[in-house]
Amino acid sequence: MEKTKTRRTVIVGGGIIGLSLAYELAKRKHEVVLLEQEGFGEKASWAGAGILPPACRATAIHPMEVLEAISSEIHELWADELRQITGIDNGFRKCGGLYIARTAGEVAALMGMQFEWESRDIPFEILNTDEAMERLSFLSSGAKVIREGVVPEIAKALWVPGESQFSNPSHLAALVSACKSLGVMLHEHAGMCQVQVANGVVSGIKTGDEKFVGEQYFFTAGPWTEQLIKPLEVVLPMQPVRGQIALYKVDELSSKAELPVINDGARYLVPRTDGHVLAGATIEEVGFDCRTTASEVQELRDWAESLGGSLGDATFIRSWAGLRPATYDGFPYLGALGQSGTAFVATGHFKCGLHLSTGTAVVLADLAEGKELAVDLRPFSPARVTCHQDTEIK
Ligand SMILES: Cc1cc2nc3c(=O)[nH]c(=O)nc-3n(C[C@H](O)[C@H](O)[C@H](O)COP(=O)(O)OP(=O)(O)OC[C@H]3O[C@@H](n4cnc5c(N)ncnc54)[C@H](O)[C@@H]3O)c2cc1C
Repeated sequence: MEKTKTRRTVIVGGGIIGLSLAYELAKRKHEVVLLEQEGFGEKASWAGAGILPPACRATAIHPMEVLEAISSEIHELWADELRQITGIDNGFRKCGGLYIARTAGEVAALMGMQFEWESRDIPFEILNTDEAMERLSFLSSGAKVIREGVVPEIAKALWVPGESQFSNPSHLAALVSACKSLGVMLHEHAGMCQVQVANGVVSGIKTGDEKFVGEQYFFTAGPWTEQLIKPLEVVLPMQPVRGQIALYKVDELSSKAELPVINDGARYLVPRTDGHVLAGATIEEVGFDCRTTASEVQELRDWAESLGGSLGDATFIRSWAGLRPATYDGFPYLGALGQSGTAFVATGHFKCGLHLSTGTAVVLADLAEGKELAVDLRPFSPARVTCHQDTEIK
């Protein structure tokens, strides 16, 4: 006999965070409604590069480290699970990551990362220039170009075998398909949802002529969450941070076995097994402007094409931009909004939302069910910043 569904949950915002939460809750037999004003996962969640940095559960101390480690573990599981449910391969693979520093500032930043990996028992190797060149060899003449001084010499290089990647567009497609199979009530192109409030608590979500009522509400609207929850008379400060990416197609890459992520200072190349290579990404505070700009894309292209012959000869396909949801202290907002126990928020993952989506979904589903949490959510509580709209900040 089929088990009774537990709670009716309404989620507003169908990016990777909303979709992951819907998937996790539906697996636990909740009745879930997911509302998205445009297409599912079309914003930052699609625009991102899909890099999943390494983590270690055994040594994780700070709740952020625990969330990272749990997220990494679940990514491996979900990749298989989603393939079984939907037949979609999300491209998850432990491809390793090469980290290169060229300037004094980049070396200092990489030293900081090295110390962090050391203290967290995250495996890495220090490479000499020849070994770093070898890791870059999938870009064929890339090593030669660097040696000839077209870009500055490598001053420090590390190899991190635990770095992974997935194809976020494939993962999103798999999540949507799995949510459908599990009976999530999916509403995309639903228009801009509005929170309705009665006696200080959420009474429903209105969009067009429709109203959706649940026993619990989750707000997962990325950088638009601050605006979305205003009817609750709370201020949740957020900042959209634009990132632009250039996409190439390189025929030769498809035959190479190992295609690591290349982190070169603040920029990266992400080679996919189908020969696509992403070059990213800018970090710009330009409000909600999600357009690409010719100058930034050209800078990305100049850097990417200077790295290797393959990319110089490759077909530049297109560029795009997305808005990362940032908070002002670097931690996401995860937890209850107010005291009612019916409204929750999950956003503000900034540069790590693809990585942290799995852990966020599982921990928030536990929170929704009143279970013991694997992650101490106190540093992520929206209460750390929320103030009543009328509160004067002195
Ligand atoms: C260039 C770039 C590269 C990145 N690379 C990586 C990476 O390699 N690894 C990583 O972990 N992260 C990466 N990120 C960050 C990651 O993409 C984001 O943190 C993550 O996608 C945020 O997901 P989200 O679901 O919170 O937000 P979004 O994807 O923005 O989804 C929010 C959704 O809410 C909807 N919405 C908003 N308001 C309403 C409303 N009123 N009613 C209904 N719906 C609404 C929006 O339409 C949107 O679809 C990158 C981001 C960018 C831009």
